[in-house]
Amino acid sequence: MVYNFSAGPAVLPKEVLQQAADEMLDWHGSGMSVMEMSHRGKEYMSIIEAALADVRALMNIPSNYKVLFLQGGAIAENAIIPMNLAALRSPAGKHEAGVADYVNTGSWSTKSIKEAGRYCTVNVAASSADRKFSSIPARADWKLSRHAAYVHICSNETIDGVEYQYTPEVAADTDGAPLVADMSSHILSREVDVSKYGVIYGGAQKNIGPAGVTIVIVREDLLGHALPFCPSAFDWKIVADNDSMYNTPPTYAIYIAGLVFQWLKRQGGVAALEARNIAKAELLYGYLDSTDFYSNRIAADCRSRMNVPFFLRDDALNDTFLAGAKERGLLQLKGHKSVGGMRASIYNAMPIEGVQALVDYLKDFEQQHG
Ligand code: PMP
Repeated sequence: MVYNFSAGPAVLPKEVLQQAADEMLDWHGSGMSVMEMSHRGKEYMSIIEAALADVRALMNIPSNYKVLFLQGGAIAENAIIPMNLAALRSPAGKHEAGVADYVNTGSWSTKSIKEAGRYCTVNVAASSADRKFSSIPARADWKLSRHAAYVHICSNETIDGVEYQYTPEVAADTDGAPLVADMSSHILSREVDVSKYGVIYGGAQKNIGPAGVTIVIVREDLLGHALPFCPSAFDWKIVADNDSMYNTPPTYAIYIAGLVFQWLKRQGGVAALEARNIAKAELLYGYLDSTDFYSNRIAADCRSRMNVPFFLRDDALNDTFLAGAKERGLLQLKGHKSVGGMRASIYNAMPIEGVQALVDYLKDFEQQHG
């Protein structure tokens, strides 16, 4: 038995992989693999339409939001977002980029800020860089711009292991700027009120499916404001008007995402997954907190349920720890190089048995080396 704690691409439900294997050569008697289908044919249309309907139902997405499938991952969105939104509410005029507000809570927001700066003026409204990203700046301390085009957050920092436990309200301080959230690494892991966001986006390769497809959930009034140089394939209005088929979408990745959505529904939906994710996180953090052999350095109210970085008291044991973990089938626990130590990513598809196996190993290792 193997448990894969990779931060992404990450573990997928076994049932989904088995179904994909069964359907690989001949999808539902069509005589074709999904990979071989025209994206406009009736077989594939039924696949993408079901995926869209399922994700809408799972996230309870209001009807005035579009769900788009794009390519380029969240990193491309770091540019695509300002290209689509920076002219919103801009005092400079309809096609001129204005100011966008960003909250810096870790490696991924830092990257978003750097890229956005190529397209618009960025105001870093708050940052926890001086605290080594160990917590999220209190909402009361954010210095938002009154005419911000939008306010950007990364609601789960995959590398640093910090997660918003609430949706920040930003409209009052900004005269109604939309909230834009990078949810790459916790989308579908907890219930979210989509109506509180202007845009939610994320790469698929953690909680949704394989790499290659980016999901963008965008409120309709935010379409149609792209800067003139925005590539057509990244202009959300053009993509929306063409039902995510302005260019050929990543058909196979969307098909797998659709199978994951069906699996999520069979599990009882997002609320059921959230309950499991809370139990998994409590089990792991609970153990880490119970001993000083290991530590997690994130403020308790900002800890991510998905990505749990932790350190051994003695760094010199890191390689021995990882080798022993691998022997037990506990894979990909090495921390991100910018943080060091270990990181366990425990996405939706990680069963609680996997987290228990990790905790058992943590205990045994401590007994041997403590
Ligand atoms: N944002 C977050 C929160 C992420 O976790 C990642 C991927 N680890 C990215 C952005 C970048 O995603 P991609 O490589 O798919 O562009």
